[in-house]
Amino acid sequence: DEVRIQTALLSVSDKAGIVELARALDAKGVRLVSTGGTHRALMAAGLPVSDVSELTGFPEVMDGRVKTLHPGVHGGLLAIRDDADHKAAMETHGITAIDLVVINLYPFEEVRAEGGDYPTTVENIDIGGPAMIRASAKNHAYVTIVTDPGDYSTLLDEIANGTTRYAFRQKMAAKAYARTAAYDAAISNWFSEALDLAMPRHRVIGGVLKEEMRYGENPHQKAGFYVTGEKRPGVATATLLQGKQLSYNNINDTDAAFELVAEFLPDKAPACAIIKHANPCGVATAPSLAEAYRRALACDSTSAFGGIIALNQQLDAETAEEIVKLFTEVIIAPSVSDEAKAIIARKPNLRLLAAGGLPDPRTPGLTAKTVAGGLLVQTRDNGMVEDLELRVVTKRAPSAQELEDMKFAFKVAKHVKSNAVVYAKDGQTAGIGAGQMSRVDSARIAAIKAEEAAKALGLAAPLTRGSAVASEAFLPFADGLLSAIAAGATAVIQPGGSMRDDEVIAAANEHDVAMVFTGMRHFRH
Ligand code: 5GP
Repeated sequence: DEVRIQTALLSVSDKAGIVELARALDAKGVRLVSTGGTHRALMAAGLPVSDVSELTGFPEVMDGRVKTLHPGVHGGLLAIRDDADHKAAMETHGITAIDLVVINLYPFEEVRAEGGDYPTTVENIDIGGPAMIRASAKNHAYVTIVTDPGDYSTLLDEIANGTTRYAFRQKMAAKAYARTAAYDAAISNWFSEALDLAMPRHRVIGGVLKEEMRYGENPHQKAGFYVTGEKRPGVATATLLQGKQLSYNNINDTDAAFELVAEFLPDKAPACAIIKHANPCGVATAPSLAEAYRRALACDSTSAFGGIIALNQQLDAETAEEIVKLFTEVIIAPSVSDEAKAIIARKPNLRLLAAGGLPDPRTPGLTAKTVAGGLLVQTRDNGMVEDLELRVVTKRAPSAQELEDMKFAFKVAKHVKSNAVVYAKDGQTAGIGAGQMSRVDSARIAAIKAEEAAKALGLAAPLTRGSAVASEAFLPFADGLLSAIAAGATAVIQPGGSMRDDEVIAAANEHDVAMVFTGMRHFRH
């Protein structure tokens, strides 16, 4: 199963390391063939290399759009070496067998990331490269395909004796198809973003491996972070200013934190969200960012230990001083002031991310999760309470403050795992009940947490007294409402639409509670 490498075709956009590789191949007596730019680079290094047009008898035309798309190349890649017919065809048409192919593609992903204009981006869609990669990989019984400059040294180790083994060629073929699939996925993702095609049928779901993590959700699981190239400020594109590589759980939680805090538009007020296990344990807005952090922390300072903090504005020195008082895993903010950087540097393990902006909560985009044997894909939950027509369904209408707190609570509830019940007062969460199978349990847990917070802060009464309460899906019975009223809620926001809405409304009226229906549900699982 060993194949002697006699002829190599090198065609690379990223020329890094190619001269050294070609020199090593030449030293082994491998015949080198190359395309225009690669050919020039190797010639300049004084290497003996022929131009691919010698294989094709056809010049490179149309600004390189057509260089290698020719039977003289593809015959040499696809021929079954010991098949009589294939051999005869090679002889008849003067086709040379190509044993090794080294390709990296036009930098489509980079051009896209740099925000290249439409025609430039289109011009950077490589055609001949993927065709050769796929042909070589298909014919891995005979052909070795290298698509990653990181594999040049592995290749040289492999061909120390002038041959490659089948198992090696197979592995490289698998990697090659991963590369062309990721490349096409990037093109598809770019199109759907450029044309605002959020719906799945217009696009393929895929990404490029950005990094491998040491482990997944648990230490015995392997994990990688694939990026789609979506232009959305967030954990995939943020700059790590300090601290170790983010773990799988860090990435998941940081995403949850930043998407939540981005709901609070920065021109309105500074906002802070603290996340644990993808659920918020405190969210607040305040006149200053440091105050927003303190108020978010007050909601559940026990759970906030080892949490992830997201801010909707530049991290400043005052807030940084507050944050370093407690053990925190990750901070993400649109930007970080120099003073704040210096303060955070006192905690070298604290991961600090600058996202460069806030994601727009209204943009569509897609989210995906796996199920056995498949992916479930949907448009992002981009509904915002500000855009909804709120319908007052009780005798008493909410006061202006209650209405503000209702909206705040509903925004937070959108980012809490279902069943979600969130109490809020004066722009801060008072109690959060997450992820229970029964909505009444979520309401009760939120109230218990509020009581514990009050004790910890030495308050006479929990913040749920006189609060607004949000339920991310309709209250199916009056019991959840009664439990919230018992905790002191005076205003309720929920989607409405239950069979028993009348019962729930009657219970609210009986207790002089104001209730509004949003008409929109925010399940999150
Ligand atoms: P070079 O710099 O050697 O002129 O070009 C190398 C690049 O051209 C590689 O990224 C390779 O994938 C790409 N390439 C090779 N053949 C073709 C072709 O026929 N058409 C297009 N569009 N690109 C090609």
